[in-house]
Formats: sequence, structure tokens, C-alpha cells
Amino acid sequence: MELTVLGAGPAYTDRQGATGAAYLVQAGDTSILLDLGQGSFPRLAAAIEPSRLGAVIVSHLHPDHFIDLIPLRHYLVYQFAPPRRVTVLGPAHLAERIDALHAQPGLSADALDTSQLGTRQRQIGEVTVEARLVTHTEESYATRLSLASGAGLVYSGDCGVADDLAPLIRPGDTLLVEASFGPGPVPKGVNHLDGPAIARLVAATRPGAILLTHIQMGFDRQAAVDAVAAATTAPVRLVEPGDRYRV
Ligand SMILES: [Zn+2]
Repeated sequence: MELTVLGAGPAYTDRQGATGAAYLVQAGDTSILLDLGQGSFPRLAAAIEPSRLGAVIVSHLHPDHFIDLIPLRHYLVYQFAPPRRVTVLGPAHLAERIDALHAQPGLSADALDTSQLGTRQRQIGEVTVEARLVTHTEESYATRLSLASGAGLVYSGDCGVADDLAPLIRPGDTLLVEASFGPGPVPKGVNHLDGPAIARLVAATRPGAILLTHIQMGFDRQAAVDAVAAATTAPVRLVEPGDRYRV
């Protein structure tokens, strides 16, 4: 599988070009998009014909992870006659959230086939998708994507308890994980991760590569990498839009 980072930003930031979460995973003819946060639709359209996506998987209903479904919907409706359609999997009531932004029931259904992701394993083209609920919003998912053989890619979405991710991670997997609070600490009661929490997870689960993302403004990026790297011999990197990784 090949992972292309389209957007790796948090909810807001002052860093130029840091658009919302969006990660394209491609394997053969199968393309799956993990999240589509603010400003990332143009990067998606530059990387792939969006109507060819096998699915968009939305981790949770915070706008920095799904709001660019609206430009995706408009693109599919207005660039093609008849409109093309894309499957969207995510938390319950995702379609209603999109519709509410336009105060137009049925808006998303014009082009998006939206249904609840849930935790049952499913197959999308060549890719097996496993999902697990994590501590963040009422219904937030982490996902593992894999082929019939070889290592997988585990994406945390946003996650407040690192141990929630452990059941998804097999040794050698690539772990794409939010590090919102950089080297830490995470304020009490806030459902996000920091470097020390990820370091403990990595020591226990032994992924083959660790990709940090979603770091909020004002946090030391290199210190976040160093905090995780202290717990593993695997490579630890901070991802940027345009990065490509082979999983
Ligand atoms: Zn969130």
C-alpha cells in the first residue's frame, strides 16, 4: 500500500499550507481516503480523480476531519452529468451534519452514499478495513488498513487514550498517530495524545514505523518526535502534506 499525506493539520494553526486531516491510501486499483478536513479537497483532486475513490472513511465528526466532504459533494454533482457517487463510511448522522450546513435535507445524498462505519471488519477492493472505537467524541474510530499479506497501516483519528489503539496494531505495522500536544502534557480531561503517551504505546506494540500528525500550533515538533523515538528503534517522522510512504 502507498500512503500519501494530503493534509496533516489540527483544528486550526498558523502554519502555511497545514490543511485538515486527509490521508490517501492506494493499493492496486483501490483508493481509500482517511478523513477529509478543511482545505484538503484541492490536494485530493490533484492526487487522484476523486470519483474513483473506493471509500472515504471519516474517523469522527469534528470538522477538521470531514468538512471538505462538502466540496467533494459539490464536485461530484456539478462536474458530472449525471452526478458521480462516492461511498462514505463514518459515525452515525454524518449525512445529517453535512445537510445541516446547507440547511438542505438530502444534500449529501445527491452524491455521497453515507453509512455508519461500525466495528465489523470489511473489504474495500483489495484492502481489509478494521475499525475500533476510541476515546475522543461519542463515536470516534481508529482504523487499520491491510492487504491479504504484509504489514498494515493503523490510523488513530483523534484519540484520548493511547491504549485504545493497541488492539489494532500488529508488530511491523505503520502507525499514523495524532500527537496533538507534541511533547506534552495533555491538559486534564482533554481527549488527545502527546509524545510520552505514544512512546508507551509504541514500546508495548512495536510498530515498524511511526508517523506523527495533527500537532497543534505552539508545540515543539522536534521534541514530539524525540519523545517517541526514545521508546523505539523504528523510524519516527512528523508527516507533511505531499509525503509518501510505502506500507
Ligand atoms: Zn477531534
